Amino acid sequence: VYVTLLLQFYYFSILSVLNIQFHCVSAAFQRKVQNKIKDLLQQMEEGLKTADPHDFSTYTGWTGIALLYLQLHRVTHEASHLQRALDYVKRTLRNLNGRKVTFLCGDAGPLAVGAVVHHRLNNTADSRECLTKLLQLQRSVLSPDSELPDELLYGRAGYLYALLYVNKEIGANTVDEDTIAKVVTAIVESGKNLSAEQKKTERCPLLYEWHKKQYVGAAHGLAGIYYMLMQPGAKVHPDILAEAIRPSIDYVRHKKFRSGNYPSSLSNETDRLVHWCHGAPGVIHMLIMAHKVFKDEKYLKDAVECGEVIWQRGLLRKGYGICHGTAGNGYAFLSLYQLTQEKKYLYRACKFAEWCLDYGTHGCRIPDRPYSLFEGMAGAIHYLSEIAKPEDSCFPAFQL
Ligand SMILES: [Zn+2]
Repeated sequence: VYVTLLLQFYYFSILSVLNIQFHCVSAAFQRKVQNKIKDLLQQMEEGLKTADPHDFSTYTGWTGIALLYLQLHRVTHEASHLQRALDYVKRTLRNLNGRKVTFLCGDAGPLAVGAVVHHRLNNTADSRECLTKLLQLQRSVLSPDSELPDELLYGRAGYLYALLYVNKEIGANTVDEDTIAKVVTAIVESGKNLSAEQKKTERCPLLYEWHKKQYVGAAHGLAGIYYMLMQPGAKVHPDILAEAIRPSIDYVRHKKFRSGNYPSSLSNETDRLVHWCHGAPGVIHMLIMAHKVFKDEKYLKDAVECGEVIWQRGLLRKGYGICHGTAGNGYAFLSLYQLTQEKKYLYRACKFAEWCLDYGTHGCRIPDRPYSLFEGMAGAIHYLSEIAKPEDSCFPAFQL
């Protein structure tokens, strides 16, 4: 018995050593990534000198750059990165215009990121001021006669993200439960109304549209909204999760193409786009979250299928960014890796990172805002910075 136990002990120690080796990204690759990050950061800073000084958004403007430096600070703990984040966020806070309310494209982004940066630097009063202004935006979000959509880029889900983000980064109850509940209710009511209007209450109890189109993907569509509503921090009532959100997710699942990819909108039948904004790389995050919330294997199965589509078609000629570029698609593998611990997904994430290491050499189209977080270089740097600690990766302005 003793010998068997001893053998078993050795067997398991060897296994765990092997396991550790499998799950580590090689030191040589890590070094390569670190060097490339430094190189790209320099190029980005140079390029930003000609960027639009008035674009303060997270999506294409200065808040996105501040968010990148916050991420670099998180990974490296270098104080200079936090200082940089402060410089950029201060610039954005002077430019708020009160027209849009979301984290990605509106005032909520600069205010939420400002609150977090000031909090990290112990500037309590400045952080508080940002939070107060962030909460003041709720009036237009909650107003039933506002024309506000519900999607992530311009709508209520994009405001909800900002609230959940500060609660995660600063502490639970930084934004009170009551405020979050009101925003959640506004999103749910809006979805129920459209579903009833379109006579889809049975099949898809929560239906949303943007510019008269029922989009499916993460940026403008159903997947992004359901994903936000399933966040633990949103504290959506279990009955609403089970009776409204779950059947709506299943409705989207039935729109899946034979390839495993998803349409950009409910009425679109061409299997073309494999982006975070439209297609499997965005929908996968909804499926993974549904798997966690409802503990049903079918969601995992569909998520794995998304992973295959992204592996086959996810290296994009559109560029290296995170909205519709290779870096954004790489996040799908990082999420699958976190969920399953399968080294295959870490390998794939690294392969997509490798593609980003050769930035600019694949003849990709140059985006309109080539240095920005969602379209350009800052997004690729953000993705590359995740390779240091893939188990902690987090798609900016989307995952929590
Ligand atoms: Zn996009």
